Amino acid sequence: MIIVLKPEAGADTADELLARISESGLKPLHMPGAERVVLGALGDERVLAGLQLESHPMVESVKPILAPYKLVSRELHPHDTVVRIGDLPIGGRGFAVIAGPCAVESAEQTRNTAREVKAAGARALRAGAYKPRTSPYGFSGHGPEALRILREVGDELGLPVVTEVMDAADVDIVAQHADALQIGARNMQNFTLLRAVGRSGKPVLLKRGMSAKIEELLLAAEYLLAEGNGEVVLCERGIRTFETATRNTLDLNAIPYIKRKTHLPVLVDPSHGTGVRDFVLPMALAAAACGADGLLVEVHENPAVALSDGAQSLYPEGFRELMAALAPVVAAVGRELA
Ligand code: PEP
Ligand code: MN
Repeated sequence: MIIVLKPEAGADTADELLARISESGLKPLHMPGAERVVLGALGDERVLAGLQLESHPMVESVKPILAPYKLVSRELHPHDTVVRIGDLPIGGRGFAVIAGPCAVESAEQTRNTAREVKAAGARALRAGAYKPRTSPYGFSGHGPEALRILREVGDELGLPVVTEVMDAADVDIVAQHADALQIGARNMQNFTLLRAVGRSGKPVLLKRGMSAKIEELLLAAEYLLAEGNGEVVLCERGIRTFETATRNTLDLNAIPYIKRKTHLPVLVDPSHGTGVRDFVLPMALAAAACGADGLLVEVHENPAVALSDGAQSLYPEGFRELMAALAPVVAAVGRELA
């Protein structure tokens, strides 16, 4: 429920109503705006109705939040949220590019790739220490040692680092090393993990599940916000459809839809979205054109020997081409590279 107070309502009214909301077992929200104060009450709709807040003399209107996701919805929070990963703002006018190898394979490979992506204009480094692999025999990451390497390389180059956490038991160690925690497509509805990451206090990069509807992605984000973590960046990474010519079908329809429904920023991952190196650049440009807030791109110093996702990883040269091609598209939609 969204409770809009009259312009003349004072802080005492807000305090009184917030107390009533929380005494009835609902979650109170306080959103002071430039012109008027807006309050929120989340929880059982029947309890909300019983409060009869609309009859309070200082209440202008009481409206239900129609979306099933509440904190994530633009109905409650009309303005764009800007999430900071280290010193990189995601959302707003800037267009953020996060890049790196699929996995931390060695200190040297991570450092070399990180140097290349930084020189080409990436503002954050992403590489996996814990890799979700379809086969149990695939390379599943170097774990804690990889976290240490990633942190060291990030600090050396002044790049914030993002990495995936797959298990709620690893949230602490990953949060100690990374500036943001990625929740991968396969874990988008791992509700135990979502709650644990929501409590971590770290920004989150939440990828859309490969078979998840947009509404399910937004409800997964709601878990994070409901735990008190508002620093959430969404990521469209392609969904599974009947089409098998490419690894996934990059659902760019999702971008304007997500921008309409939520205040949270959204990135596009054209690497997993296509699975094909040559298609990463055109889909990156399309992502910028359709309103994404940035990109997540896989780059490897030598994709031919990559331990995971080599076929979709750009060579450093390809990433430089992508960044050069991106600049005019980003400018054409009224934004600038962050
Ligand atoms: C990844 O980012 O390397 C990854 C495993 O992505 P996704 O969870 O989108 O498959
Ligand atoms: Mn990958």
